[in-house]
Amino acid sequence: MTLAAAVLALPDVLAEEGDEGCPGISPHPAVPRPGRTVLRWIEQDLGRGRVVAYSCSYRMAVYELVSCAGSYQICRHTLPCKGVPPVSWTAEWWRREEAQEWWRRLLAGQAR
Ligand SMILES: [Zn+2]
Repeated sequence: MTLAAAVLALPDVLAEEGDEGCPGISPHPAVPRPGRTVLRWIEQDLGRGRVVAYSCSYRMAVYELVSCAGSYQICRHTLPCKGVPPVSWTAEWWRREEAQEWWRRLLAGQAR
């Protein structure tokens, strides 16, 4: 990487490349696999929820599993990118067991 690129890049991008500053506490979502389930992401959430799990914040996209009144949605935070809202939510929401299964698949690269 050139010096100019290093200066312009956002800290998260740098972290993505070298994982610098990554505390190694939260999981890194795996690279999406071919044939994965494509989740639909919308800008509407269920309401004020509680984050029950999250992926590493030193990545370009950070995912959270959010619980709201017994239903669960996955929330995605991304760096500014054309055509992608900075915060989006799965169009579908689930009960706890289902949500944990989707969360597992997302981290495994089987859904994204
Ligand atoms: Zn990390």
